[in-house]
Amino acid sequence: NLQDKLDRAFKVLKGQGSITEINVAETMKEIRKALLDADVNYKTAKAFTDDVKEKALGQNVLTSVSPGQLLTKIMNDELAGLMGGEVVEVNLSVNPSIILIAGLNGAGKTTFSGKLANYLKTRKGKKPLLVAGDVYRPAAIDQLEVLAGQIGVSVYTNRASKDPVGIALEGIAEAKKNGQNVVIIDTAGRLAIDEEMMNEIAQVKTSTKPNEILFVVDAMTGQDAVNTAKAFNDRLDFTGVVLTKLDGDTRGGAALSIKSVVNKPIKFIGTGEKMEALDVFYPERMASRILGMGDVVSLVERAQQQFDEKEAAELQKKIRKNKFDFNDFIGQIQQIKKMGNMKDLMGMIPGVGKAIKDIDIDDNAFKPIEAIIRSMTPYERENPDVIAQSRRVRIAKGSGTDIAEVNKLIKQFDDMRKVMKQFSNPAAAAKMMRGMP
Ligand code: GDP
Ligand code: MG
Repeated sequence: NLQDKLDRAFKVLKGQGSITEINVAETMKEIRKALLDADVNYKTAKAFTDDVKEKALGQNVLTSVSPGQLLTKIMNDELAGLMGGEVVEVNLSVNPSIILIAGLNGAGKTTFSGKLANYLKTRKGKKPLLVAGDVYRPAAIDQLEVLAGQIGVSVYTNRASKDPVGIALEGIAEAKKNGQNVVIIDTAGRLAIDEEMMNEIAQVKTSTKPNEILFVVDAMTGQDAVNTAKAFNDRLDFTGVVLTKLDGDTRGGAALSIKSVVNKPIKFIGTGEKMEALDVFYPERMASRILGMGDVVSLVERAQQQFDEKEAAELQKKIRKNKFDFNDFIGQIQQIKKMGNMKDLMGMIPGVGKAIKDIDIDDNAFKPIEAIIRSMTPYERENPDVIAQSRRVRIAKGSGTDIAEVNKLIKQFDDMRKVMKQFSNPAAAAKMMRGMP
């Protein structure tokens, strides 16, 4: 899937100090393949990768940010832009606002109708009316009534009628009579694109003149979602898209493809069966989701703000010459502290957030480390290798720690230096990476 491919692509970049023509070209090839697989058409994928490449080249990579992370940030911004960039709210400027819901069977229309009514009632202070326009499935009317009951919203039904246009118009009249200012018309779908369904809903459109036509599509259906979107848009010229079932493993690639094919804003995403499981569509967040990078982007942003580039360049030089010492180490600790709360920071790393939810990470954890380093003489800080046993005893006493803690810190520092050294030597890094799975 897309995630695996991106992981592979980033592996190419791992451990390299800067973004060069070669590594970016390789990575963009992978990403283009991944996007094509995710149903993005060739033109969009190509334009996207060309753009990202141009922006990535010549960027200086900070020591705190890997090339992969920086590239992710650039891609994230680009992707968000492709998906519209901005949040597009549902149009409620008319009174009553008429919102027509369209889509195939099982896409989640009825569920979304309920969610939308709930959202408009609780978040926008509206008085919505739900209209049960699925004349083929009595169960769909029951379903809408149950949902309406759960959220405390009125529903208009006419079980005797088989005429969706008539029911919709009756519903609108009912809303006007009762002072309800939004009418949400749920409609009947079909299992696949079907002429009868399209005629029906087109007629409902013509006679109710909705100010919003929201096309609901199951995000898990891949290429089909794009084809369906195109067929509905050709016929209905809808005003927005609702992507449902994004609570599963779906990465949301459909969002990009649909947007690129029909060029209509995605307005909402469904993230579960419950009435509350509805989110406004944020292009930025969907971009991170497509890239599967959690909140790495905000982590990178914060890091970029805080790290002084010049300092970072110096440090890189030192690491390359294996001259990284305790002064640099304490400098790094201070940088990390400047970036804010450790737990928040670690929580932004994908996969880590949940794991550390209940663990107490103490921002004071660095205190003994700093105390130990400060108890070293300047000579010792610059020459970590001279710190033998007798010096360690003195440092432990001076810092109010014990010899075991001092030993542990020096051991960790040595290990860290070894790893840094390996990654600053391209040949060694390559060798290490070949050993990776
Ligand atoms: P309709 O035929 O288009 O009206 O689709 P329904 O609203 O009846 O939904 C079909 C099924 O999908 C139902 O079992 C819903 O509970 C489920 N469903 C709808 N939206 C979501 C969603 O965002 N997430 C999940 N997990 N299930 C959903
Ligand atoms: Mg339905």
